[in-house]
Amino acid sequence: MKERLFLSPPHMSGKERQYIDDVFKSNYIAPLGAFVDRFEECIKEYTDCKYAVATSSATAAIHLALRVLGIGAGDVVLASTFTFIGSIAPILYQNAVPVFIDSDESWNLDPLLLKKAIAKLRKKPKALIVTHLYGQSAKIDEIAAICKENDIYLIEDAAESLGASFGDKQTGTFGDIGIYSFNGNKILTTSGGGMLISDNEGWIKKASFYATQARENEIFYEHKEYGYNYRLSNILAALGVAQMEVLKERVRKKREIFSWYQKELEEIDEISFMPEIKNSYANRWLTTLILKKSDPYTLINALERENIESRPLWKPMHLQPLFKDAKSFLSGISEELFKKGLCLPSGTRMKEGDVKRVCDILKGELN
Ligand SMILES: *Cc1c(COP(=O)(O)O)cnc(C)c1O
Repeated sequence: MKERLFLSPPHMSGKERQYIDDVFKSNYIAPLGAFVDRFEECIKEYTDCKYAVATSSATAAIHLALRVLGIGAGDVVLASTFTFIGSIAPILYQNAVPVFIDSDESWNLDPLLLKKAIAKLRKKPKALIVTHLYGQSAKIDEIAAICKENDIYLIEDAAESLGASFGDKQTGTFGDIGIYSFNGNKILTTSGGGMLISDNEGWIKKASFYATQARENEIFYEHKEYGYNYRLSNILAALGVAQMEVLKERVRKKREIFSWYQKELEEIDEISFMPEIKNSYANRWLTTLILKKSDPYTLINALERENIESRPLWKPMHLQPLFKDAKSFLSGISEELFKKGLCLPSGTRMKEGDVKRVCDILKGELN
């Protein structure tokens, strides 16, 4: 059997072991510590945001974002329907009410539907969580303007889009709060981890407070509020610092992999790739495409027989049994994408020959 090709496996830079050794030498095998600070500095520098706090996951970071923005029971939170559950579950943790907004031709959230939802809803939404899907910026300038006009907090789920930009700004820096993920399948990984960023110092201080059990600043343990155990370990932060050193290189490689797929498959007019919207620079976390007529599951099975991992696109939230009663503003686009779409192996250690191996199977099935 040929070596398995995964969608997006971890890819170490080589420095991780050294930095972890530094952690062991310092004996600081604990949450917090020097590497946590360094990891937060790396993110601030790369994204040009003022404040950052490292967390145990991006899901935890989104939960903290909602908490510090004062979103609680019964509050309406708008969100992309075409996303991963980690983006949405924190709304439920806060007993708030998700309302889903569909995608437009960019595959990301449709600003026109967003406007319509705000106009139609009887209760004024408090926040929007917009996802930059598959490493592609949403129409974030328009979306940010709509949120500002309507006095709605904007949280950017940039879990998949670290290193991607719109105009001259990084995704994650347009809203009130942005979040990144360092889960094992993301463009960079600490095996598990997240980051919450903002230009508002108060929010980040508050997030850090809630992430460390809402412990008051006393020598004894004093609690006026409850928090969570959401901080990142110093060992994992050491991985993060090493990974941040290769972010530019990883984005370049992901884009190169996409261009190999594009070149191999361009003559097949059944296939169209996720578009890169004007004025944006994607990290192409995963190469994703849709098929005009064919069933993606035929291709997924054919690839699996050759030990190649592939998957359908995200199943929209409004189609999840969990959210059968939720309100949604729909265009039909995310349902089409779910039915017809495919994610292809996009690991940054792939060679042009690996992409050819995938494409030969696809071409065999589609001809
Ligand atoms: C991975 C992911 C998350 C959750 O990240 P974790 O760090 O695994 O909690 C949230 N939203 C999106 C869009 C993701 O892809």
